Amino acid sequence: RTLNPDEPEFHQAVHEVLHSIGPVLERRPEYIENGVLEQLVEPERQIIFRVPWMDDSGKLQVNRGYRVQYNSALGPYKGGLRFHPTVNISIMKFLGFEQIFKNALTGQGIGGGKGGSNFDPHGKSEAEVMRFCQSFMSELYRHIGESTDVPAGDIGVGGREIGYMFGMYRKITNRHESGILTGKGIGWGGAQVRTEATGYGAVFFAQEMLAVHGENLEGKRVAVSGSGNVAIYAIEKATQLGARAVTASDSSGYIVDDAGIDLSLLRQIKEVERGRIVEYANRRPGARFIEGGNVWETPVDIAIPSATQNELNEDSARMLIANGVRVVAEGANMPSTPEAVGAFQDSEVLFAPGKAANAGGVATSALEMSQNASRQRWNFSNSEQKLRDIMADIHDASFRAAERYGTPGDYVAGANIAGFERVADAMLAQGVI
Ligand code: NDP
Repeated sequence: RTLNPDEPEFHQAVHEVLHSIGPVLERRPEYIENGVLEQLVEPERQIIFRVPWMDDSGKLQVNRGYRVQYNSALGPYKGGLRFHPTVNISIMKFLGFEQIFKNALTGQGIGGGKGGSNFDPHGKSEAEVMRFCQSFMSELYRHIGESTDVPAGDIGVGGREIGYMFGMYRKITNRHESGILTGKGIGWGGAQVRTEATGYGAVFFAQEMLAVHGENLEGKRVAVSGSGNVAIYAIEKATQLGARAVTASDSSGYIVDDAGIDLSLLRQIKEVERGRIVEYANRRPGARFIEGGNVWETPVDIAIPSATQNELNEDSARMLIANGVRVVAEGANMPSTPEAVGAFQDSEVLFAPGKAANAGGVATSALEMSQNASRQRWNFSNSEQKLRDIMADIHDASFRAAERYGTPGDYVAGANIAGFERVADAMLAQGVI
């Protein structure tokens, strides 16, 4: 804490992992003796840079850019870029740290990293977003590469922003290197199912947890928070598998649609018009908008928090439990506070942490990297099946690790342990570097 003051999210993420791996360290003291922990918590490299750009009125704006290259023991750094006004070094490091274990869990040969900027894309014109992305890449390009560091999207960074950044990389370097970013458009090096993968993956993970207890998604009521990339495709997959998704939200409030979310309307508003979630209630008969409300007060069987960190606190967890929630699968990164996680774990709720449940996105990014490297293109159903298999493997690895260390059913411990063992073994084998 003295070395990293004012980094509460980073401390929260590290604390959770270290707490989980205590029993592993007792059985495997070589991890401590060889300084694996000290190396693991310290990023290999942190890059902070200036991002100047002109707004539409001709005024100079300056944002701060980040890339935290956390750990490359298992492969090139891999993790998204986040454009949101709350971005700071604490958020970057928490996300990068989580990414190490998540990526290890996918079994795909990718290290952990994260980046972004405190730039707020809301309310910016198309031209402003393009100029910002170009300026951001005019520095980032020198730090990335298909064997070094392969960024992707996250909050505020979708296909549009990846496109502008890819264009700038190509211009500066005079190289069309598909493998330097993932989340690209299908026509120019992108992979089928990458857009859908995080949301779909979270639902597949929920399905796996239910299957252990002989249950499935059929007829279940689902609350999803957020209305971005993860939320939209969690809603789509839950609906396809027979559940009824009834909520979505953004930072202004949430909507409830007891008839089940109309996905084409939601996508029209969020993906095409880039509008606010209130629009959904304005256009959909029977749906209502609760301004500033807490989406977790909606009675549901399954909750998939898919907006941002610490969006679900202890009171919300207790409300969900009192209303009979059965499964919580985190689509976002660290959306539940530690107290909320504790409340779920003290109840009968099946709880899946983000680093397991939302790993489908980065796993599919790794599939995109494979396709780029081999100049192949896989079709949608083949790619979706691979995603489904990967989520089942992540579920099983987490489930088995929890059992091995005497905490059956604890997916938090299981995911942390299974991810930690993979990366720690690689670090041990590669020595102190
Ligand atoms: P998007 O930018 O597409 O959507 C984010 C959504 O969350 C928006 O509806 C946004 O509302 C809402 N939101 C963001 N910040 C806040 C906040 N502080 N308070 C309330 N609502 C908020 O992002 P993604 O869907 O890509 O990411 C969502 C989460 O999933 C993040 O935690 C991300 O790290 C995680 N994730 C994403 C992956 C991916 O593949 N995209 C992969 C793995 C994890 P508003 O517009 O009002 O800000």
